[in-house]
Amino acid sequence: MEMREQLTDVRRCPHCSIASPFLYKVWSSKDAEGTPRTDNRERKAWAVYLCRTCGGAVSAEAYGRYLNHAASRIYPTEKQAHEDIPEIARTFLQQAYDTLHAPDAAAVMAGSAVDAMLKDKGYEKGSLYDRIDKALADNVLTHGMAEWAHSVRLGSNRPRHADAERPHVSHEEARQSVEFAEALGNFLFVLTARIERGIQAAKAAEG
Ligand SMILES: [Zn+2]
Repeated sequence: MEMREQLTDVRRCPHCSIASPFLYKVWSSKDAEGTPRTDNRERKAWAVYLCRTCGGAVSAEAYGRYLNHAASRIYPTEKQAHEDIPEIARTFLQQAYDTLHAPDAAAVMAGSAVDAMLKDKGYEKGSLYDRIDKALADNVLTHGMAEWAHSVRLGSNRPRHADAERPHVSHEEARQSVEFAEALGNFLFVLTARIERGIQAAKAAEG
C-alpha cells in the first residue's frame, strides 16, 4: 500500500468493501517530520484518506517519511476471515465481508457462514432453524446468541426467497448479520484454537 496522493493497492475498502477503492488524501503529517510524541520513541508519519465510494476514512501509518512510501499499517484493516475458522464457513464469511456494498448478498453469505459453522460443530441434520435450536439446547449457543442467529437466518431468507413484502435487507441489517457471523466464528473456533495453542505453549515451556 503506497502512501501517495492516493493510497494504492488496497484490495477492498474496509468500510464498504468496494474492490480497488479510490482512496484520496485529505490530511497528512508534515513529510519527514511525523507526528509529535512525548515518549521519545521514533516518530511516525500519518495520513488520512477518504473512500470516494462511501466517504469512509482510512488512516495509514509509516515509519519515517510517508510520501511515496509503503504504509506499515492501515486502520481499519481490510476484513479477512480468520484462518482458524473451518474452510467452508471461512469462505462464506469472506464473501460476506466482500459483498457488504451489496446488502442482500452479504446477508445471504452471513447466513451461509453461520449454517456452515454449526454444521462443522456436528449439527448436520435438518434446517438452519433446527441447527440453531439444537445448539441452544446443548448450550453451544447462549440464549442471546441463538436469538441473534435466528435474526441472521431470517435476514438471509428474505432475499433468498424473494420475500413478497420485504425482499431486501438494509445496509445496517446486513452489517449486523455479518458482525454476528464474525462473532460466532470467533467464539466457536478462533478463541478455542487460541486457548488450545496457549495451553500447548505453556506445556512446552514447562518441558
Ligand atoms: Zn468505501
